[in-house]
Amino acid sequence: MGYLDGFKVTLRQMVEPRVTVQYPEEKRPKPQRFHGRHVLNRYEDGMEKCIGCELCAGVCPARCIYVRGRDNPPDAPVSPGERYGFVYEINYLRCIHCDLCVEACPTEAITESKLFEFSFTDRADAIYTREELVVDDEGRPKQLPWEDWREGDDARTSAWMRATAPSGDASYEGVVQWAGELGYGVRPPEPGQDSARDPAGDLSVRRTQANDIPAARGGRVR
Ligand code: SF4
Ligand code: SF4
Repeated sequence: MGYLDGFKVTLRQMVEPRVTVQYPEEKRPKPQRFHGRHVLNRYEDGMEKCIGCELCAGVCPARCIYVRGRDNPPDAPVSPGERYGFVYEINYLRCIHCDLCVEACPTEAITESKLFEFSFTDRADAIYTREELVVDDEGRPKQLPWEDWREGDDARTSAWMRATAPSGDASYEGVVQWAGELGYGVRPPEPGQDSARDPAGDLSVRRTQANDIPAARGGRVR
């Protein structure tokens, strides 16, 4: 009888819904707070958010960020600040995706996308440069040859969450806490832990005019 019981288990499992998918052709939605490879964001007018302050490098426990700031050229400033991140590198052979750099950044310049499918055959490829990290003119991460981008991967990639989000403090629930972003406008506030969850586990993206929200650029709205 023992082996018949075994067959029963097999037959029962055959009609159960499958939890596996044909990865990587098919991908499951990634969780809202997923930590993937970083991007350097730009304001809606195209200026870079990084001001070269090096706080991210200082807080990084893996010591994998290298930043050098430089004064903005007065006739062609790169960022709205006095300085900009002239050199910016992240070594992905060392990064542990802890997101402390994101938390430390005063201008929301560095955030993490949801992309984790990348592999290298060359050590130089593992060290992402500023040119590779800065989002393109559509506000989306640049798709590099050693990264596995599939259809839909570029949507909502810059899903950045911070300690000041509702999960950290309920009084922030429903409150926009970030500046406008190139290609995305001002993102809606993060849903709170008690709110109904988006089944895809993602923030929906809405485009708004910068002046919809008074502090859309560089300020927080509470
Ligand atoms: S995610 Fe963590 S380990 Fe990676 S660069 Fe940022 S602070 Fe460093
Ligand atoms: S990414 Fe943020 S914390 Fe890092 S240097 Fe630029 S502005 Fe400073």
